[in-house]
Amino acid sequence: MAITGGCQCGAVRYAMHVERVEKPHVCHCRMCQKATGGLFAALAGCSRASMEWTCGEPALFASSNLAKRGFCRDCGTPLSFAYDKPEARIYVTIGSMDDPELAGIEIQYGLEARVSWVRFCEDVPGEVTGESPAVQGFFAGMVSNQT
Ligand SMILES: [Zn+2]
Ligand SMILES: [Zn+2]
Repeated sequence: MAITGGCQCGAVRYAMHVERVEKPHVCHCRMCQKATGGLFAALAGCSRASMEWTCGEPALFASSNLAKRGFCRDCGTPLSFAYDKPEARIYVTIGSMDDPELAGIEIQYGLEARVSWVRFCEDVPGEVTGESPAVQGFFAGMVSNQT
């Protein structure tokens, strides 16, 4: 069984070889807004070992020194996000999945940048970026490559 998806032009396709996605979420942070051109990124993950690019491969942009974002170089669809650690999950954009219903979000991140008029999944718990002590050191070392 696989959870599949791809970009709008069909040049890049993927299959996540899992029963269900991990940690489906939205992130409202400024970096995700800029990276997607939307008001938030909606992402669902799996282990790198479970991820297969079945057609083509995404182009990658290092949006910071900590992570890369994949997109179709032909049509521009944002496709993936992953921190550079080998053990880190790879996330796909929920909108690029063939069936987004498989990724009902469980948490929201980046609440500090949530646009004030966005009324969205307000019953879903949320966090401010770097709020948790466990990740403060990680984010303290981040250097954005976005302008
Ligand atoms: Zn494409
Ligand atoms: Zn974000």
